[in-house]
Amino acid sequence: MTERPKRGVPEGLWVRCPSCTNTIFKKEVELRLNVCPEPGCQHHFYTSARDRIAQLLDEGSFEEWDTDLRPVDPLGFVDRIPYHQRLVEEQAKTGMPDAAVTGKGFIRGRDVVLGITDFAFMAGSMGSVVGERLTRAVERATELRLPLIFVSGSGGGARMQEGILSLMQMAKVSAALARYHAAGGLYVSVLTNPTMGGVAASWALQGDLTLAEPKAMIGFAGARTIKNTIRLELPEGFQTSEFLLKHGFVDRIVHRKDLRTEVARIIDYCSVG
Ligand SMILES: [Zn+2]
Repeated sequence: MTERPKRGVPEGLWVRCPSCTNTIFKKEVELRLNVCPEPGCQHHFYTSARDRIAQLLDEGSFEEWDTDLRPVDPLGFVDRIPYHQRLVEEQAKTGMPDAAVTGKGFIRGRDVVLGITDFAFMAGSMGSVVGERLTRAVERATELRLPLIFVSGSGGGARMQEGILSLMQMAKVSAALARYHAAGGLYVSVLTNPTMGGVAASWALQGDLTLAEPKAMIGFAGARTIKNTIRLELPEGFQTSEFLLKHGFVDRIVHRKDLRTEVARIIDYCSVG
């Protein structure tokens, strides 16, 4: 059996970093949680939801929820290919039923609810299953009175193939988060490259604390769309973690290797006592 190729990290022994353009030993990148080893670069490569769980949670502590939820094609939507066919292909490619993984686990011994969207599945776009899984995760975090950690890797925003049903997920997750907030829950949102569209416009930017990986692309519409709409020159790098930190949308930029410790620290800081 051959190993499934990872998106963003080409197959083979060597990989070319898109930031510093150096050719680097792939193993070196993987050993550093898919981060470029060049000291001045530290480009954060794509990381799958599965790898992310291993990076963030205590080993073997993840208990996955709602694995039986499967996407359907309520509109019979056809773009380049029919949506139902696209779903089958994406499922075969990623081994995931849809773009989100949710469940419960431990971060350095601290009980948390974790949700992740994976860019490899239809650019991490939010359809009904993604919205439903995230909503149920928020609701269980509310019931169980646990901290909630969502990691977004969504370039597609709402999933157009599910039309209005997709858009409704923004309101549904947001409403659940509002109830969680009212109940006194702690929600830490971790923005990774990319976090765009309806995901950025809903749960990804509703955290009590918003962390971001370095140089992640974060925004709503793409730069060209905005430029064509408002007909103004846009500031350099305005859709990056660094720009958003400067302008108050992001609370802290955290290197991937420090994420686990940082989240644990935040949970302790916010715990009553
Ligand atoms: Zn690099």
